[in-house]
Amino acid sequence: MMTENIFQKIIDRQIQADIVYEDEQCLAFRDINPQAPVHVLIIPKKVIRTHDEIQESDVELLGKLHWVAVQLARELGLKDGYRLVINCREQAGQTVPHLHMHLLGGREMHWPPG
Ligand code: 5GP
Repeated sequence: MMTENIFQKIIDRQIQADIVYEDEQCLAFRDINPQAPVHVLIIPKKVIRTHDEIQESDVELLGKLHWVAVQLARELGLKDGYRLVINCREQAGQTVPHLHMHLLGGREMHWPPG
């Protein structure tokens, strides 16, 4: 079930987070419940509730999220690979109603995902 938008509070500095990257459009911070040695969430500052609410006007912003992910993967030493995940709505397990990309790495991953 999707709860309140806790990520807006992180953007607004109302709650603390381990922020690893910020610019005018994006914020990246470590997941509070990491599923891998590196687990960072990359979010747009613009509120887009879910992946399927993306508009054509957001295309550049989405590219930016990927560019931030690549730079963080390099900075955080994920030279052997990493996984990017976006959960969309309840069936995929989305819990926070603010679009976010998971950057996971530092261990062997498996497929199919659970
Ligand atoms: P989702 O399941 O929606 O794709 O991912 C939400 C992620 O946000 C989860 O991995 C969860 O651990 C993380 N998360 C939830 N609340 C907080 C918080 O207050 N701070 C941080 N840093 N991560 C959070």
